[in-house]
Amino acid sequence: MTKRIYRSIVLVALTVLLASILLIMGAVHSYFTGVQFDQLRVETALAAHAVENEGLGYFDRLDDTMDCRITWIDTDGTVLYDNRSDSGTMENHLERQEVIDALETGYGESSRFSATLLEQYIYAAERLPDGTVLRLSVSRRSVLDLVLGMLEPILLVAAAALLLSLSLAKRLSRNIVQPLNTLNLQEPLSNRGYAEIQPLLSRLDSQQEQLRIQARELRQKQKEFNTVTYALNEGLVLLSSSGTILSLNPAAARLLEVTPNCVGADFAVANRNAGIAALAEQALNGQKGEQVLQLTSGQFLAVASPVRSGGVISGVVLLLFDVTQQRESESLRREFTANVSHELKTPLHAISGYAELLKSGIVQPYDVPRFSEKIYAEAQRMIRLVEDTLRLSRLDEGAEEMRWEEADLYVLAQQTCQKLSGPAELAGVALRLQGVHATIRGVPQLLSGILFNLIDNAVKYNHRGGNVDITIDNTPDAVRLTVADTGIGIPPEHRERIFERFYRVDKSHSKEVGGTGLGLSIVKHAAELHKAKISLDSTEGKGTVVTVRFPK
Ligand code: ADP
Repeated sequence: MTKRIYRSIVLVALTVLLASILLIMGAVHSYFTGVQFDQLRVETALAAHAVENEGLGYFDRLDDTMDCRITWIDTDGTVLYDNRSDSGTMENHLERQEVIDALETGYGESSRFSATLLEQYIYAAERLPDGTVLRLSVSRRSVLDLVLGMLEPILLVAAAALLLSLSLAKRLSRNIVQPLNTLNLQEPLSNRGYAEIQPLLSRLDSQQEQLRIQARELRQKQKEFNTVTYALNEGLVLLSSSGTILSLNPAAARLLEVTPNCVGADFAVANRNAGIAALAEQALNGQKGEQVLQLTSGQFLAVASPVRSGGVISGVVLLLFDVTQQRESESLRREFTANVSHELKTPLHAISGYAELLKSGIVQPYDVPRFSEKIYAEAQRMIRLVEDTLRLSRLDEGAEEMRWEEADLYVLAQQTCQKLSGPAELAGVALRLQGVHATIRGVPQLLSGILFNLIDNAVKYNHRGGNVDITIDNTPDAVRLTVADTGIGIPPEHRERIFERFYRVDKSHSKEVGGTGLGLSIVKHAAELHKAKISLDSTEGKGTVVTVRFPK
């Protein structure tokens, strides 16, 4: 810009200089012509006077070096004398303007291009008393002559003016641009300079304000988005149309094992899971896809959807849902169903066998009660199995629907001991309840289930003459139930697994004592719903202590 202003100023200065020189030369030229005419008039008058007195003799005295051309013209236009040309060969001069004027008024002058001398001339003519005309002429100096004549001073002035205008233009252009270079664009309205740029500065200021508002809104939206996605357990990744990561939440970074600051990186490079990279690629090509992937932290359902705006794919949304639990519970359910069917098959086969024998009539009458007893026992086992299965599936559905109330664990334990006193007596095991009354908030039905299964096991896996001690403790932060027996104990390698469904240390023994393999699963489930912790201590051959701690 400075250069442009500089060039413009120099150009204007040069144009003005040139125009001034031309105008001055024109004025000087016209002034000189006037002076020339005045001189010529005086000289013509003097020469006319001399010719009038001396006739042709005057011309003899004329100096050859004389500037003027002198022509004496007869009344009929014939040239009588000319100091530059041969008068005899010259054409008639009666038509010359100055001659016409001189014949008419006594004096005439004109200026024209001389065909005779091939130059611009000025003429002055005076009529003599005898009617003849004396004409003097001098060559008129052209503007070019004038310029050439004054070339040196003109060049000097022009050079001085040029130098001056160059340095002034430089300074001027710098001064003009200076306020523009030092504009404070952060605060456009604080600038005091040219009034002409005030509308531009106002516009800039309002646009900056709009940008600030938009940036604030964007930041707010980004914050909201981050807050929402930060708390999500599901992984969320946003990709641009070129496959670079625009955003990813902490869950996604954790699941894909990438650093959270990989935003801006190419997803295919940052992520090492080929399955998810293929899904993202497919979505970038416009195809939605989903796939269950095995990641380090479990099984995940990855869903990749293309985002379209105006018919063009502008990005991809990737979602990762944890389906580990879902898959595990599905496989557990399948396993459970298979186990239940298997467990039911044995008593059913037995019942069917005994019933068939009875039906065929080959059973001796004294054997009928024994067979009936067997059928009854198997049927009871089936009933227990079905009941336990139903209890477990009810627990699987959760305890929300059940009635929660304040329950005295000691009273529930008393009731359970009463229920189990018969079997305990049969097994020759003594049930002893001790401790204090302690109230906890829970589902009485489930608490009774815990007590029943633990005390039942303590009786079932005990020795004749053994004991079962049930204790209820009330501490400031928890209510504790302890069931200690003097039974067979549990080998260490089985302790972890006895809470699994249908897991039994000794299957035949369990069946013998009427076990279903579901008792401790029910205990574990019910305790979990009450946020209670189970601990187990056992010594083979000496007995087992199970403690359930209900936090307050
Ligand atoms: P079951 O119906 O077979 O008793 P449980 O789930 O109640 O099923 O128990 C699982 C297994 O744990 C039992 O089969 C048994 O082998 C073992 N067990 C449970 N409680 C005791 C105990 N108090 N003493 C010894 N073994 C026990």
